Amino acid sequence: MQRCKSECLYGTGTLPFGTLGAMSTQSFTIHTHSPEDTQALGVILAQHMPDQAVVALYGDLAAGKTCLTHGFGEAYAVDEPISSPTFTLVNEYHGSKLIYHLDLYRLTSMEELVDLGYEDLLDTPNGIVLIEWAERADTMLPEEHITIKLSHEGEDLRCIEINDAGLMIEGWQETVTAKFPQDV
Ligand code: ADP
Ligand code: MG
Repeated sequence: MQRCKSECLYGTGTLPFGTLGAMSTQSFTIHTHSPEDTQALGVILAQHMPDQAVVALYGDLAAGKTCLTHGFGEAYAVDEPISSPTFTLVNEYHGSKLIYHLDLYRLTSMEELVDLGYEDLLDTPNGIVLIEWAERADTMLPEEHITIKLSHEGEDLRCIEINDAGLMIEGWQETVTAKFPQDV
């Protein structure tokens, strides 16, 4: 397994793919070489989501968070373009599943998050909540969530580390490995 050059590992919590740790979570790292690859990775991840999930996305500007989210839109056959909700904080898309796409870059307070109806979003059946700048939700992130950390490693190279916390449908790592054999 390749490791990222930058600070994209979970400290001591990171385990090689396939190894069960004390918390029985799995961490998986992949490098993508184009926006298309990152979107394709998003499609695979979306296809392995449980009925309802919160996906916390971390990474600097242009790390590829929105690009990965486009893959969810593609997988759920959303028929409108997904754009970053930087000013509205949340956008909603109806496909085969409901997508709530949050971008908390400009969040100024926890009250603002509550006013968005955030807690209701988290409880929506068949709803997948993708949160860019998830660190800004701080303690309001639900305990059970999938974590994806993205970082630049070159012009078009991105390191993407996924920890599914045991929440995703099994087999996603194999599907990703089959799609990106040279990268894992
Ligand atoms: P974020 O939402 O993290 O701010 P975006 O997904 O909006 O980032 O933008 C990512 C930018 O980086 C886009 O301009 C995209 O074309 C570019 N890019 C280059 N290589 C990649 C890659 N491997 N994965 C994702 N985006 C990439
Ligand atoms: Mg974005």
